[in-house]
Amino acid sequence: MDKYLVFGNPIEQSKSPIIHQQFASTCDQRIDYQKQLSEPDTFVADVNTFIAHGGKGANVTAPFKEQAMQMCDQLSVDAQAAGAVNTLSFTDGGILGDNTDGRGLVDDLLAHNVTLTGARILLMGAGGASRGVISPLLAQNPDSLAIVNRTLSKAQLLVDHFQHDKLTAIDYSQTQSKRFDVIINATSASLSATLPDLASSAVVDAVCYDMVYGAELTAFLKWCQQQGARQIIDGLGMLVGQAAQSFAIWHGVKPDVAPVLALLRQQFKEG
Ligand code: NDP
Repeated sequence: MDKYLVFGNPIEQSKSPIIHQQFASTCDQRIDYQKQLSEPDTFVADVNTFIAHGGKGANVTAPFKEQAMQMCDQLSVDAQAAGAVNTLSFTDGGILGDNTDGRGLVDDLLAHNVTLTGARILLMGAGGASRGVISPLLAQNPDSLAIVNRTLSKAQLLVDHFQHDKLTAIDYSQTQSKRFDVIINATSASLSATLPDLASSAVVDAVCYDMVYGAELTAFLKWCQQQGARQIIDGLGMLVGQAAQSFAIWHGVKPDVAPVLALLRQQFKEG
C-alpha cells in the first residue's frame, strides 16, 4: 500500500490522515496515511527516512513549510511564490514541492459562490498563510487586493515581493475609509479569540472568511455577523480543499470534498 505522512509540530490535532483516508475510500484507492511529529533539527532526516522506507509523498504543516521547500529538487509556481511547500512528492526524478493552500482557499470561496474576479479583496495578516494565498488570489483577477497587517512593514514586504499593480499594503486605520467585497482573515488572532483592529464599516455587506475553524464560530466571524457581513465562512473548507489538491497531485484524481467536510462538521458537533 502506498505510504503518505503529514509532518508538523504540534501534529496530534492534524485532520490530514482522516481527510486523505476518506478521499482514498471515495476514489476506490487504498493508502496508508499517518501523522508524524518532527523537530526543526531532525526534519530533513525524518523526511529522508520516510523516503528510504518507501514513502510516496508527504504533507508539511507548521513550522516546516520553509524547510521542506529547501529540500525540493523542483518547485511548482505556487510553491515558489509562497516561499513554502505543503506537498512533497517523492519521485524517481527527485523531490517535487508544491503549495496547495492558496488553491484550497480559492476552491472553497468559489464553492461558496463567492465572486473573486473584479472583487475588492482585503487580506488580513502578512505571515506564511497570507503569503501562500496571494498568487492564487491574484490569478482570479480581482479589482484589488489590499493586505492589512498590524506590523505594516511586513505587509509592505509582501507587496514588494509580488510586484503586482493590484496589490497594496494598508494599515488598520485605513480600513475605515474603504469598502471591500471579500475580507479574508489570515491572521492567527482567532486562535486566541482576539479581534484584529478592522473598522466595522469595512465589513458591512462583505463576504468574510476566517482561515481558522472549529466547533464554534470564531470570534472574528461572530463579530462580522454582528456588523452586517453578507456571508461568513470558516477555514475548514480551505483545509479540505488544500488536501484535495495534494491528493490530486499524488493520485491524478480530484476527490469530492463535500462528504469529508460533512464528516468533519459532524465530528465537531459530537465534540
Ligand atoms: P504567522 O504566525 O506566520 O502570522 C500571523 C499573522 O497574524 C501576522 O501577520 C500577525 O501580525 C497577525 N496577528 C496575530 N495576532 C494578531 C492580532 N491580535 N491582531 C492582528 N493581527 C494579528 O501565522 P500563519 O500565517 O502561518 O497562519 C495564520 C493563521 O492561518 C493561523 O491561525 C493558521 O491556523 C491559519 N491557517 C489555516 C489554514 C487552513 O487550511 N484553514 C492553512 C494555513 C494557515 P504581525 O505581523 O503584526 O505580528
